[in-house]
Amino acid sequence: MPERRRRTVRDLRRANRSVLLRRLYFDGPLSRQDLARETGLSPASVSNVVGELIGAGLVVEAGSVESDGGRPRVLLKAAAGYGHLVGVDVGETRVVVELFDLALTRLAKADLPLGDGGHDERAVVRHILDGLPAVIDGASVDPASVIGVGVGVPGVVEHGPEAVVHCQTIGWDGVPLERMLREGTRLPLFVDNGATSLGQAEMWLGAGRGHRDAVVVLIGSGIGAAVMIDGSPYRGAAGSAGEWGHTTSRVGGARCRCGSRGCLEAYVGATALRERYRAAGGPAGTGEEAALAALLADPSAAAAALRDDVAEHLGAGIADLVNLFGPEKIIIGGWAGLLIGRRMLDRITAAAAAYALRHPFARTSVDLCRLGPEAVAVGAATLPLAHLLDGGDPAGARWPGGGPRGIMVF
Ligand SMILES: [Zn+2]
Repeated sequence: MPERRRRTVRDLRRANRSVLLRRLYFDGPLSRQDLARETGLSPASVSNVVGELIGAGLVVEAGSVESDGGRPRVLLKAAAGYGHLVGVDVGETRVVVELFDLALTRLAKADLPLGDGGHDERAVVRHILDGLPAVIDGASVDPASVIGVGVGVPGVVEHGPEAVVHCQTIGWDGVPLERMLREGTRLPLFVDNGATSLGQAEMWLGAGRGHRDAVVVLIGSGIGAAVMIDGSPYRGAAGSAGEWGHTTSRVGGARCRCGSRGCLEAYVGATALRERYRAAGGPAGTGEEAALAALLADPSAAAAALRDDVAEHLGAGIADLVNLFGPEKIIIGGWAGLLIGRRMLDRITAAAAAYALRHPFARTSVDLCRLGPEAVAVGAATLPLAHLLDGGDPAGARWPGGGPRGIMVF
């Protein structure tokens, strides 16, 4: 068979595998008949590919249902125990490493505060490399079963031959994170922006489920966003799209950590809010989470005025997103976003309505993330999962004609 034709056949098989696997993962259990009807693939193709997926251990039977007059139909679902996923959230104050099964059930967690080392890239890499055996051994999982390690980082991730991170606010200028991690692990690595990772997880499993166009905003110490267009993140020419935190909220305004002035992050990021609350009479020497919780509960007039200002800045920022992208949904996440949103979602939405154009605003809704304050680690775990569902298995193909699963060592 000519090489070109062989590749086409292989690509087609891979595409069919991906279609069926995604269907079973997100909508299973389903029967072979359901799969053929819903995907448009022939019953013979479905039967073939499903046979492969069962043979590889990725799909298992899940009971049966009676059919009209015929034989009972066997139901199928993706196998949660097929392998494991690691999700890493590189935050501003800590690195969180979590281990999941394929259904994204959390099996183990390592929380590694960054301390005085701050954002030194070597400290971050060391924490990630310490966290991997901590969760894998901690859950008594065979390292060979780990399909991949997803790493969600702040800033812009450039996806060249290897992932390089640019994050102006923490002083990362072209940090070769993937290469640095590669020196300490042979597990397959997937590095992406934390907000983008969170966005993918919310679209798949959270508040964005069933929608194609949404903006998922991440508010923590800093602020980011994932602009999801037709189900995929919009990345721009160099992967930097979605830096909502550094859009200008006030011309000539407060100095931002990025060096510019008046950025949204300089008003409503948790780092900025702690400083603003202190200037308004709040306590000194508290951490960001404690400061934000205190601000939200503070009955003083100064705190109330600051809360009003936060609602207005966030509302205006959300109105910008509505006017620019016309999404079906704006989803607010991140630990600070959830703290603020649970207390003030109505006011933020009212401010957004006041700033946005009526027509696009009437077709959108503002909601909170459903995957909780630690959704970035879940999101990071969806990076290797996406690769698997796309028909690839970074741990070494077990498909017919493929080699054995690779041996993983740390
Ligand atoms: Zn900025």
